[in-house]
Order: sequence, then C-alpha cells, then structure tokens
Amino acid sequence: MTHPPVPYPDGGADPSAYVRTREKGTRDVTYPAAPEPLAVPVYDNHAHLEIEDGVGLSLDEQLDRALAVGVAGVVQAGGDIDSSRWSAWAATAHPRVLAAVAIHPNEAPLYAAAGRLDEAIAVIDELAAQPRVRAIGETGLDFFRTDDDGRPAQFESFEAHIALAKTHGIAIQIHDRDAHDAVLETLARVGAPERTVFHCFSGDAEMAKIAADRGYWLSFAGNVTFKNAQNLRDALAVTPPERILVETDAPFLTPVPHRGRPNAPYLIPVTLRFLAAELGVDVDEFAARVAANTLEVYGTFED
Ligand SMILES: [Zn+2]
Ligand SMILES: [Zn+2]
Repeated sequence: MTHPPVPYPDGGADPSAYVRTREKGTRDVTYPAAPEPLAVPVYDNHAHLEIEDGVGLSLDEQLDRALAVGVAGVVQAGGDIDSSRWSAWAATAHPRVLAAVAIHPNEAPLYAAAGRLDEAIAVIDELAAQPRVRAIGETGLDFFRTDDDGRPAQFESFEAHIALAKTHGIAIQIHDRDAHDAVLETLARVGAPERTVFHCFSGDAEMAKIAADRGYWLSFAGNVTFKNAQNLRDALAVTPPERILVETDAPFLTPVPHRGRPNAPYLIPVTLRFLAAELGVDVDEFAARVAANTLEVYGTFED
C-alpha cells in the first residue's frame, strides 16, 4: 500500500474519482488469461479495486471478468479515508460489491503524526453506518512496515476499529503482518467482534488452530500457492472448512503461475482450486462451502 502525503487529501465531493496507481517497476503488468470458470460461484473476500495496476480496468470490467469465471461478488477493502470512501461508494454503485472501511495499520501512525487519527476514525464510523458497508477493514497490526515508534498509534487505531465493528454489528477484517501474538492478545483482551476475519492469513498451523477455536475466519490469498509458503498450507490443513474464506488482495499476491503480474478478482478460481487440491476435496463442494462462509460473514450482496 502506498502512503499518500500528510496531511491527507479529503476526497472531495466525488469519492468515485479517487484512484491510486501501483508502482510498476520492471514487472510484467499485463493481466493473465482468465482461468476456466467455476461451476459453483464464490466471492472474493478482500480486494483493492481502486488501485490501478497493469492496464487499468474499470470497476465494471473487473466485476464482469470476475462474474464470467464464477466470482459473483467482491468485498472491496479500504485503508485510509479516501479509499474507504471509494469502497463505500463502489458498494452503493454496484450490486456485486460490498465494502469494508478502515484506516490501515501502516496508515494509522501517519494520521496520528498529522494529528488526524481521531478525525479519520470518525469518518470510518460514519461510513460504517451505510447499509452496504459490511466490515471494518483492513485494520490490525503490522510490525513489518511500521517500527516501534508507530506502534502506539497502531494499537490505538486497532482497538478503536474493533469497537466500531461491535457498535455497528458488522465483521472485521484484520491485517496481521509479523504481529500474530499481539493481534491475538489484543482480540482476547478487548473482546473480538462476533465475525472476525484474518485477511490474507499469514500464520502457521498452531495459530490457525487458535484462531479457528476462537471462531475466527481465515481468509487465504494467492500467496498460499507460493513455494516458500508451506506454513500457510499447514495452516490450511488444520482449518475447519466452515472457517475458510478465499480472497485475492488484488492487485497484490497474484497466485502461481502468474506471480508478479497484476492480480484481479477473476483469478480467484486459481487460488480456490489450489486450496481444494491441497485439502483433497471436491472443487464444487468446497466452493459452495466457502461461498456460504462469505455470506455468513458479510451478509447478502442482494440488498
Ligand atoms: Zn492487508
Ligand atoms: Zn488488503
């Protein structure tokens, strides 16, 4: 996630106009070919469709490509004021989008440094009242990108977001990078929202067991396909089917064999089939289970 300048832009009157562009570097930025469609539709539990990558696809194009391969909807996640406003707008504008809104743990210290964290959280509170905003996310702790100085603001922000999920009675999508123990401890200490999701689950089997025992959901992203990610496959193996979700985190974490190229919701079938193969279960039955889990966490896309 790129960091916008401080002080933050306020989005203006038209949240739909907001776009971020991902650094391209030397990557192949063409979109991979579409996978074979799934017979049983599923949803992408976490994506950032406001971020332009590769040849920019409009929101409609993204969603149409997804639908064509059996990805019936997307939970669009915000990470700052503007992307959260955009997420809420996209969910209102499109029947196949639901929104998550939050200040990302790597953004929270920047808002705090600008003296704007309370104001930012107040904006999230306001957005969370909208009927198609069904999660607070992504929030959590990131000890990889933020050093010790930024941690008090991360904790303050995470705890405020947990409270918002409870107040609004919606799910929470947790970003946990190199902060497993602190995230689990915080949830236990302040009490987790009823529907708690680890987006892009990054722990091991031991953590997966703890999370599942506590009734949290584990959302697996394309990095589960990476060669060096045996810990994620071990985690998957011990996660009860009713706790499993699938996501892209698009445009990031593109699954093998397309790693490095832009990710998009239409690539969900690649990861879903990989998960089913790892578990040795039927793809259609697994898809039905994961789709039902999504609706249990976020509610229906249809109203
Ligand atoms: Zn994240
Ligand atoms: Zn994300």
